[in-house]
Amino acid sequence: MNKAEKPEKIRCDACPVMCYIADQKTGACDRYANHGGELVRLDPLTIIQGTDQKLVPFISGVEDEDWNGDIIKGDRPFVTAVGAGTTYPDYKPAPFIVSQDVEGVDMVTVVTEGIFSYCGVKVKIDTDRHIGHECDVVRVDGEPIGHVTTSEYGSKMLSLGGVEHLTGGTKKEGRVTCDALLRLCNREAVTMTIGDGAHQTELVVAAGKPPIVNGVTENLMRVGCGSATIGMFPMQWIGHVDDVVVVDDHITGVLSEHETGKQLNVPATGIKILGRRSTPGRYFQVANPGTGWGGTDIEDPLKILGPFNPKIAWEGLRLLMVSTTGEQVAYFELDADLVPRPQPIPDVLRASAELIAENCEPSVCSVLFMGGAGGSLRAGVTQNPVRLTRSVKEALTHVSCGGADVYVWPGGGITVMVDVLDMPTQSFGYVPTPALVAPIEFTLRVSDYQVLGGHMEHLKQVSDINRDAARHVTQNAKTRNPMAHENYRWSKD
Ligand code: SF4
Repeated sequence: MNKAEKPEKIRCDACPVMCYIADQKTGACDRYANHGGELVRLDPLTIIQGTDQKLVPFISGVEDEDWNGDIIKGDRPFVTAVGAGTTYPDYKPAPFIVSQDVEGVDMVTVVTEGIFSYCGVKVKIDTDRHIGHECDVVRVDGEPIGHVTTSEYGSKMLSLGGVEHLTGGTKKEGRVTCDALLRLCNREAVTMTIGDGAHQTELVVAAGKPPIVNGVTENLMRVGCGSATIGMFPMQWIGHVDDVVVVDDHITGVLSEHETGKQLNVPATGIKILGRRSTPGRYFQVANPGTGWGGTDIEDPLKILGPFNPKIAWEGLRLLMVSTTGEQVAYFELDADLVPRPQPIPDVLRASAELIAENCEPSVCSVLFMGGAGGSLRAGVTQNPVRLTRSVKEALTHVSCGGADVYVWPGGGITVMVDVLDMPTQSFGYVPTPALVAPIEFTLRVSDYQVLGGHMEHLKQVSDINRDAARHVTQNAKTRNPMAHENYRWSKD
C-alpha cells in the first residue's frame, strides 16, 4: 500500500476507548501512536536483566547503562509487562507470551498491561501528626478520591481510588482520581486536603518521601506508643528523674504508675494525668489529635497534667516530659506549691530524648497499588479464566507486577497488592475510561500452561523478543526472581 492509499486515521483497539489516531499523533492515553499508518506502543518494553545472576539494587529512575544488551548469554531475562501494551476485548491473547528454559524447566511468562477500573492505592504515612479522622474524605482539586482509614502502629493510612471514585461519581471525580492514582503510582507528589472547614489538613504524599503535613515536612516515625516508650527506656531515667511522662495521642505513658516503674521500684509521685486511664500508667485521650506533642494538639505538655497529690508529691520533684519521637522534651521541678516549673534539662535526660529520636525510623510515605485481575487479564492468559485463579491459589502460577513481588489476597479472584517502589519507574499509565494501566505478569511451567488452556499457539521464545528496542533494568534486590523454582509448589513436591 503506498502512502496515498493509507487511511488518514487508524483505530487503536487496545482499550474500550477505541481511539481513531491520525498520522504522527497519539491516542487519548499517550501510550499509542500512529507512525506512518502503524499503531505503535510508545514506551519501550521493559526487560529485567539477569534475574538468576547476582542481584544488584534497582536504582530509582536509572536504567543500567553499562548493560551490553545481550539478554541470552548467561543471564535469564525477565520480560515485564511495562510497555507491553494491552489487548481488548478480553478474548484476545496477552501481548507477550514468552517462554524460556529455566534450569531445565520450560517456563512461560504471560505479560500484559492490565486496564484496572477496579483499583486503588493504600497509602501508609509514617507520622503521629493528625492528618484527619477515620472516614474523613480525601480530596484533590476539590474532588473526593478516597478516605482516611484505620491507623496502624505509628502510621496513618489512606485508602484512595477504587471503582467508587473512578467511575461511581462525576466525570471530573473519575478523571481527578485517575490522575492522582497515576501520579502516586509513578512516585510523583500529590497534594491533597483532608477533612472540612477548620479541621482541614493539607497533605503532600509521594512514594518513598516524607509526608508534608500543613507545610511541615515530617521527620521521624515514633519509636512506639507512649506506654511502649516507657517500657523501652527506663534505665536511662532511673536515678536521674522522679517521674517521666511520654506524651502520645494514643497511649500516654507515666513511669511511676506503669508496670515498668513498679518492677523497677519507682515510688509514686502523686502525678495526675488528665485523660482516660486504661491500665496503670497508660492513658488514652489526654488531648485532641493534632500536629503538636506526640500527635496531640498541645504545644504545652503541662496542659495534660492536673494538680499533684499533696499527700504524695514533694517540693523539688523532678519530672521529664517527652514526646514519642523524642523531638519535644521538657524538664520541670515542683516548687513549694507543687507546681511544675521549667528548668534547664540535665544533659543525661537530654541524651535520653536523643536516644528515643535515634531509635525512630525516618518518616516516609509508602504507596501500594492494589488491583484485581479480572476479565481481560485472565482471558488474555487462558481460554478458561477460572483455572488461572485456581493455579495462582495452588502456587503453580507466580504473579508479579513489573517483575516485583506482589501480595495475593486470600479468597476469590486474583487481588494483588504491590509496593510501587519495587517496580521499575514509570510502570503505570492510564486510559480515559477512566482506569489505571498497570503491568502484570503470570509465570508458570509451560506444561501447566497447557493444562490451563493457555494460548499455546501464541507462545514465543524469549530470543524472539526485539531486545534492541527494549528498556533494560537491573533486578530489584528486594524482590524475588519471578522464575525461580522455589516460587512454585512443584519444586517442593
Ligand atoms: S486510550 Fe490509548 S489504549 Fe485506549 S484506544 Fe486510545 S490510544 Fe488505544
